[in-house]
Amino acid sequence: MALIKLQGVERCYQLGDNEVRALDGVSLSIEAGEYVAIMGQSGSGKSTLMNVLGCLDNPTAGRFLIDGRDVGTLGPDELAALRRERFGFIFQRYHLLPHLDARDNAALPAVYAGESVGRRGARAQALLARLGLAERLHHKPHELSGGQQQRVSIARALMNGGQIILADEPTGALDSRSGEEMLTVLRELNAAGHTIILVTHDAHVAAQARRLVELKDGRIVRDEVTQPAVAAKAVQPDAVAPMRDAPWLLRMAVQWREALATAWLSLRGNRLRTALSMLGISIGIASVVSIVALTSSARNLFEGEFVGLMSGRLWVWRDTAKLPPGTPSSPFRPAEIESLRALPGIAAIQVERRVQLVVRHRNRDASMQASAANADTLRDRQRKIAEGRFFTPYEMAAGAQVALIDKQALESVFKKGESPVGQTVLLSLQGTGDFGGGTAAATPLPFLIVGVTDSSSQLGFDFGSGRLLVPEQTLARKLDVRSTVESFSVLMDFKLPPEEVERQIKHRLVGLRGQQDFSFWSGNEEFEKLQRFNSGFAALLAGVGAIALLVGGVGVMNIMLVTVSERTREIGIRMAVGARQGDIRLQFLIEAVVLCCLGGLTGVAFSWLAAQGLNAVQQTLQVQVSAAALVLAFIVSSAVGLIFGTLPARRAAALSPVDALARE
Ligand code: ADP
Ligand code: MG
Repeated sequence: MALIKLQGVERCYQLGDNEVRALDGVSLSIEAGEYVAIMGQSGSGKSTLMNVLGCLDNPTAGRFLIDGRDVGTLGPDELAALRRERFGFIFQRYHLLPHLDARDNAALPAVYAGESVGRRGARAQALLARLGLAERLHHKPHELSGGQQQRVSIARALMNGGQIILADEPTGALDSRSGEEMLTVLRELNAAGHTIILVTHDAHVAAQARRLVELKDGRIVRDEVTQPAVAAKAVQPDAVAPMRDAPWLLRMAVQWREALATAWLSLRGNRLRTALSMLGISIGIASVVSIVALTSSARNLFEGEFVGLMSGRLWVWRDTAKLPPGTPSSPFRPAEIESLRALPGIAAIQVERRVQLVVRHRNRDASMQASAANADTLRDRQRKIAEGRFFTPYEMAAGAQVALIDKQALESVFKKGESPVGQTVLLSLQGTGDFGGGTAAATPLPFLIVGVTDSSSQLGFDFGSGRLLVPEQTLARKLDVRSTVESFSVLMDFKLPPEEVERQIKHRLVGLRGQQDFSFWSGNEEFEKLQRFNSGFAALLAGVGAIALLVGGVGVMNIMLVTVSERTREIGIRMAVGARQGDIRLQFLIEAVVLCCLGGLTGVAFSWLAAQGLNAVQQTLQVQVSAAALVLAFIVSSAVGLIFGTLPARRAAALSPVDALARE
């Protein structure tokens, strides 16, 4: 069976209304081991025939069989496999990839067969050494002479076996000495069993072949054997054995590695362009990361400050401001509070007990408000112990005469720099007051200061901060005689909406008191306001981020389209040596993703720096750029790369090899 068989092959080009028949009914049969020269004048169809033979181009009519297999029925990937496993191309203009060195250029076809870096490097090195380029392995094409470049392209043609070598005017661009060397190599290859098909318009070159086929206007006008073909037994089978594809997984790993390496080279080769296209993505990712960091830090802060304290609570306090001046009003009575406890939707009522005291230390005294403290106080009020300690459970249960003093209040009775902890102060009730009537604390009582509280909330919220804290029991037993209930807070159980609870309390209290001499304040409402602000801010940043990502993505798509058109010839070369459409798609997709991920990484770096700056100038909001943000940035920028890289990658993969190669 003939290795190659053409039957009535036509290839027409449509040029406007004109139809150019580059091949017009070519029938030709070539056996393994032949050395065929295809001759003819310029424009006679030689290159077109060569492209058809090499599965780079499809005939418009007729049949083309390789080993009896009809090539016309094969899909793009099967054609790529044929090119990879059977053919080696030698082009007049060498068609080496300019950014790769001699060894990597020669090894290129093995990339698409899935050979590992080490193995393909070794094989390329051996081939180049045989062609006299052992000293030139790491030279880029522009550092090599024409003859040397052509030898690199021979090595590339032999990389995967090169059973059939197609050489289109291989000596056309060479000086005569290099040309002779080239012909010698081809003869040797033929002697080793490679089938050689050589295109030339030069009779001297054609004379090297064993068979002459002459084309004229797309038709064969001469076909004669000038020397007998190489004897079949002279063929060295392993010299022409095709390199088979590696297992799928390994091949994918090799493909990914190649795509990443190529992306890196390409991006590094266009630094300014890369930096500019990264910018949009960076801004987008910086916004996204900042949102996550800011909102989560802000939420921590707000929740720490408010949620424990206020959410689910309703404050009720005596307030006569809305009543006509002079209207009498009294503090809340215990019976009123008790009656509220029975209302639905209320989990607990906490009465705020405070008392105005005179604090005396040595010869200084000051008027201060004291509040009751229990075990929840510290958590509730965001108080921190600045010095000393909090009350012990025993002190709280026993009503011990111990107190905590507020940091700001300190200075009114203690000397500057003096530690109050461990000192004793005398507490007595101030004035006579209007209500109550006992005289339990009419004489000053000694209290031990056990600690200093730092109650200044970071946001300036400081609800009912007594300047002095004493245990609840102590206040009740020893100081409470003059305390009045001016306010209380209601802890809701969320079985009813807060507004409904508020309405009921209002109804009940107005019923009992005869007038509305009180006001409400709901922590919920404030918290919701803050949350609305917070989420509004997040939405704004998210909007900025989304727009920047969109703009950045479009920028990346744009630059990738430019890259594809700039690198069309590279794509053609890769396809000629056997790259599948998927390989090309992967290459450009990965380049887009790498570009976006680099942008994302700089974006994260931006926001990290911004966070450090923000944290350095203020303490209220400590922003953390977390590992989760990094992962998010990676995912988002990869997604942007995938989305916006798809179109350019598809474009690249859809190129026809012959068109891509012809592009300058
Ligand atoms: P040769 O290699 O022998 O010089 P070609 O195979 O390159 O000839 O071209 C054969 C004919 O086909 C020429 O007339 C040429 O103008 C035409 N041709 C080749 N490629 C194209 C193309 N892509 N589009 C239109 N016409 C083409
Ligand atoms: Mg030509």
